[in-house]
Amino acid sequence: MNAEQKPADSASPVYAFLEKPSMIDYPGHLCGVFFTSGCNFTCGFCHNATLMGKKQKTLSWERLEEICRKFKNEWVDAVSITGGEPTLEPGLVELIRFFRGHGFKVKLDSNGSYPDVLKECLPLIDYIAMDIKAGLSGYPEIAGFTRKDIIEESVKLIMSSSVEHEFRTTVIDPFHTDEQMHEAGELIKGAKRYCLQAFVPQDSLPGEEFRTLKRTTPDRLHYLEKLMTPYADNIIVRGA
Ligand code: SF4
Repeated sequence: MNAEQKPADSASPVYAFLEKPSMIDYPGHLCGVFFTSGCNFTCGFCHNATLMGKKQKTLSWERLEEICRKFKNEWVDAVSITGGEPTLEPGLVELIRFFRGHGFKVKLDSNGSYPDVLKECLPLIDYIAMDIKAGLSGYPEIAGFTRKDIIEESVKLIMSSSVEHEFRTTVIDPFHTDEQMHEAGELIKGAKRYCLQAFVPQDSLPGEEFRTLKRTTPDRLHYLEKLMTPYADNIIVRGA
């Protein structure tokens, strides 16, 4: 399906996009980054806090079509759909098909809270990145999400699919103790790729207690790189 089949001014699920293509959001590809709004987690360290709350006004399909044409001219060959939490969007599958129809590879970011939606999307996408907020015992505190069974289901679904994937954790001291990290490791044991990301404090973070925490040190990230080696084929450190 493409935008020509839709009323020109009807609303797409995309709330915002990055003007400049990204070289880091989709491994090995130059990609356009598109945001949906709304999230069902309450991470106090969320850098996309404006996208967390209620749904925002979105771009028209016609505007999205223009953006795709512009990106094509800039040698963009992939898109990353992120949020917020994209699986909350009723139009997500339509959006994925739209991007595929324009010849882009599609990466989807998710917090893993809607395995049924992931199941529908996985056959249509090329790459999936799922956040692992903590070990399962840490989810209620760090993300305000209590359905551990659902997180486990999403992890299993992704690992048993043939879609290229990564799991990733933003490492926050003092929350992510070695014990928490081992628990997270057990959750994704056997994964192809696991990424450790630096936490970066900002005054605009939604959780006040996170604003004054220290940025994750390179030493801590590299220590955890070794600690997590038994759990995934490839451990990647970002932001060290
Ligand atoms: S899951 Fe992601 S978008 Fe949602 S609150 Fe947490 S960090 Fe923010």
